[in-house]
Amino acid sequence: MPSSQPLSQELAEMLPSSLAMFDAIAAPVFVQDASLRWVHVNAACCTFFRQPAAALMAQVNEGRLSSVAWAELAPAGEQVLRTRLPVEQEVTLIDPQGYCQTVIAHITPLHQANTAPFLVTTLKPISQSTAADQQQQQARLRQLNAELERQVEQRTQQLKQALEFEATLKRITDRVRDSLDETQILQTAVQEVSQALGAKGANTALYNLEEGTSTIYYEYNESLPSYQGRVAQMEAFPEVYHQLLDGQYFQFCSKEPNPVRGHVSMLACPILDDRGVLGDLWLINGSDYGFHEPEIRLVQQVANQCAIAIRQARLYQAAQSQVKELERLNQLKDDFLSTVSHELRTPVTSMRVALQLLGVTLNQEMNLNEELQKPLAERSRIARYYQVLREECEREISLINDLLDLQRLDGGNHPIHAQPIDVTTWLPGLINGFQERAQSRQQHLEFQVEAALPKLVSDCASLDRVFAELLNNACKYTPPGESITLAVSQAPAQQLCFQVTNGGVEIPADELPRIFDKFYRVPSADPWKQGGTGLGLALVQKLLWHMGGEIAVTSTAQETCFTVMLPVNMNHGPRG
Ligand code: ATP
Ligand code: MG
Repeated sequence: MPSSQPLSQELAEMLPSSLAMFDAIAAPVFVQDASLRWVHVNAACCTFFRQPAAALMAQVNEGRLSSVAWAELAPAGEQVLRTRLPVEQEVTLIDPQGYCQTVIAHITPLHQANTAPFLVTTLKPISQSTAADQQQQQARLRQLNAELERQVEQRTQQLKQALEFEATLKRITDRVRDSLDETQILQTAVQEVSQALGAKGANTALYNLEEGTSTIYYEYNESLPSYQGRVAQMEAFPEVYHQLLDGQYFQFCSKEPNPVRGHVSMLACPILDDRGVLGDLWLINGSDYGFHEPEIRLVQQVANQCAIAIRQARLYQAAQSQVKELERLNQLKDDFLSTVSHELRTPVTSMRVALQLLGVTLNQEMNLNEELQKPLAERSRIARYYQVLREECEREISLINDLLDLQRLDGGNHPIHAQPIDVTTWLPGLINGFQERAQSRQQHLEFQVEAALPKLVSDCASLDRVFAELLNNACKYTPPGESITLAVSQAPAQQLCFQVTNGGVEIPADELPRIFDKFYRVPSADPWKQGGTGLGLALVQKLLWHMGGEIAVTSTAQETCFTVMLPVNMNHGPRG
């Protein structure tokens, strides 16, 4: 028996003579039973599907082979079973290797009396291509393949270039944005873009729109003669500058050779942002070169980044000049204050001596000291005037002294003498001086000290001044009924921590950073009109700095706290 195995028993019994006939047919033939299961295939069918009969039938019957074609054939088969008339149908078969072929399926009923019918399907390929056709097709395929490969290669190149341009742009952007120096911004841009495009040269110019000039600011050249520093009058080249000032790029080739550069092609791109044109960026190449779309885009993007960076650099320069100007004015103010303080010190000190002598004389003549003890309304006029003069003179002297001290501290001329201080005896003495004042304002003044504090080595006079100023402020700005506390404790890194806390008053958060500035007083924060010059905390901060210490302030929930950190031994502190 030929390769058309296996044959169903029923068919074998029924069609013994037909089998030889099927196998003799050159076209592929398969036989299906009434339930459309394949029961026989001829040798040509096995060749057609490149499979042995058993494997082919198993695959079709188990639905593992190209379901589309069989699904198309099923209704045709059912029709033949119903009508007992043959049918022809075109179907596309896909074999297990994935090859397609369109064939005409000719389906014929095969039956004998009293038996279920069988279907015999013969497949006829629609066109048999000749060897010449196949060669032609293969040649065409090779051509298509080559074209496809060329396109893929081209796309890959484009993608590679796009990635390189992207990386160049990112590098330029990072570098120019980090810089606040106009020269460096332009140099970076010109060099990088010229190298990325492999151009013969590149340069950049900045415009002076008031004078109508364009000056070549920086140039990057491998072989071309230099144009750096050249100033062009814009009106002499209207065809160029009209477009650039309009924000438009353009490229062109020189028709006549340039006497210096010869024949070249050029791409000109304005450096502009939303506030206008700042200059231009030019790329130069060989005369037959045309800049492509991606290259033009890169140059435009680089020019835009330059514009942003230049604006930023100019803003920074303007801010720097303002800072310098303010510093200069501040210095002038300090010089003025210093001169005035020096000039005033001598006459005010003389006035103070004269007032003391006047006080002695008035005491002898009219018992001034007794007068001054009386309530204000009962005092004599002379005593009242004398008191005003004395108080105002003291205020003037204290202001002048503060200014001169600040000046000495700024100049590093403040004398500092380190000496051992026992905090537990030194501070209570200082606080006692404020007790009476606090009581008269119904404030509670407390001192809290941690046990076993180490001895402090610092400048006692400066520390007296620091804590007197802090306690003075606390008494000045604390409302009646509230508490003022001075607490001392040991802190890490060989430091002592002093905290002066007062309740019932809060400094607004946006004022906090300024209260250590010279002459700064928080607006409307002196409800009892006690006055002040705003120099106290500035002095405190500078004195502490000279002793290796520092001060910080917090103010929340109606409580203000000044924290002073001091090295236990100022000679071993950070600035010791
Ligand atoms: P001066 O000390 O020169 O006589 P002043 O007390 O106004 O004047 P600073 O001691 O420098 O100046 O204080 C600056 C400002 O900080 C004060 O005007 C005040 O508004 C605020 N301030 C200072 N200490 C306190 C405090 N303990 N509680 C609340 N506000 C304070
Ligand atoms: Mg003060």
